[in-house]
Amino acid sequence: MRPGVIEPGSILGVLGGGQLGAMFAMAARRLGYHVAVWDPDPVAPAHRIALHSFPAPFTDSHTLTRFTDLASVVTYEWENIPAEVCRVLEQRKPVRPSSAVLSVIQDRLEQKRFLTSKGFPVPSFAGLTAPDELSAIVKQVGYPALCKTATSGYDGKGQWRITRDSDVREVERALTESAHPGMRWIVESLVPFERELSILVVRGADGQSCTYPLTENEHEEGILRTTKVPAPGSSAVAQRAATLTSQVVDRLEGVGVFCLELFQLPSGELLINEIAPRPHNSGHYTLDACSVSQFEQQVRAICGMPLGEVRLLSPAVMVNLIGDDVTVVMKSTGCRALLGIPGAALHLYGKREIRPRRKMGHVTFLGESLSLTLDRAKRFRDSLANSPSLSA
Ligand code: AMP
Repeated sequence: MRPGVIEPGSILGVLGGGQLGAMFAMAARRLGYHVAVWDPDPVAPAHRIALHSFPAPFTDSHTLTRFTDLASVVTYEWENIPAEVCRVLEQRKPVRPSSAVLSVIQDRLEQKRFLTSKGFPVPSFAGLTAPDELSAIVKQVGYPALCKTATSGYDGKGQWRITRDSDVREVERALTESAHPGMRWIVESLVPFERELSILVVRGADGQSCTYPLTENEHEEGILRTTKVPAPGSSAVAQRAATLTSQVVDRLEGVGVFCLELFQLPSGELLINEIAPRPHNSGHYTLDACSVSQFEQQVRAICGMPLGEVRLLSPAVMVNLIGDDVTVVMKSTGCRALLGIPGAALHLYGKREIRPRRKMGHVTFLGESLSLTLDRAKRFRDSLANSPSLSA
């Protein structure tokens, strides 16, 4: 075996046990690996699939030692896990993507500074270190603007729109109330985008990389609702997005799966919204519509195995099941109706508690053409809107 290659039969450690960790664990098991999951939540979905489960806080030093002993390589399923834990783990085992990559990405301000320093296009932005500086910073960035917490925000959480002077006072108050020592924010110009796009790239330890097709995404209240693939429109945009994504991950020297979220302006220009250092919700279609899924690629990349050849086998539309959507699908009539739609693939994450805005599962619709697939997805979304009885 080549040095640095992790063989099947080894234990792969994953920090975070949500649905992304669970889908990673399923892909790892299929390739003959075992998985150790570390997530403080004892009912996190990935614990059910793990061979070794560590439901302990990330500050637990005993767990850190046992987890490090077991794992041949470590990855993570979301960027808000403490980079410090990765730094300590890295002293004994490879962490992919590295803690240095995680540190840049998990702080929105550092991430944007990194991207601008390398000449990549992003919305104009400025850092904010004290709520009472908001007015001056908004003047610098201009109206309309969006203020985001530099760390820990996701799915639109920790974001405030600022469209006029009176918003500044309101947001300043909200920031003051939620601030803790050392907290920072980023103020960005609110981009008048034509559409939101994303693209996955996988990069191995040897620097080889491959990209997936460009996807078009629709959000509701800051949460991804649907993904269409291939993104309709010009192939030149898709080509530019793929080149941009590969260049960003090369500059980061990242190893693993990454996703770039992009804004397309009416002029066709692309701006980077953010980088995820892990498989992404908008890449779930790869489970049913591609020759190799984003999760299998994550396993291959962190284990030093060859990356899989990416082929889109069918156009696809992915619809997220958010909050109460799942109760409709979990009833026998709803589930039968959904599974009766040709080309529908259902994924339920097995989360015990249904909460508003919580991602509970997703459905991928496949079909011979994107328009047929969109019709199927629309029928399903309409029936969700007209629940309680989901009809085919
Ligand atoms: P984020 O958590 O930063 O990915 O933001 C969630 C969603 O908010 C994005 O998918 C966009 O719909 C919207 N958004 C974030 N940043 C901006 C921006 N600078 N301009 C316009 N919309 C934004």
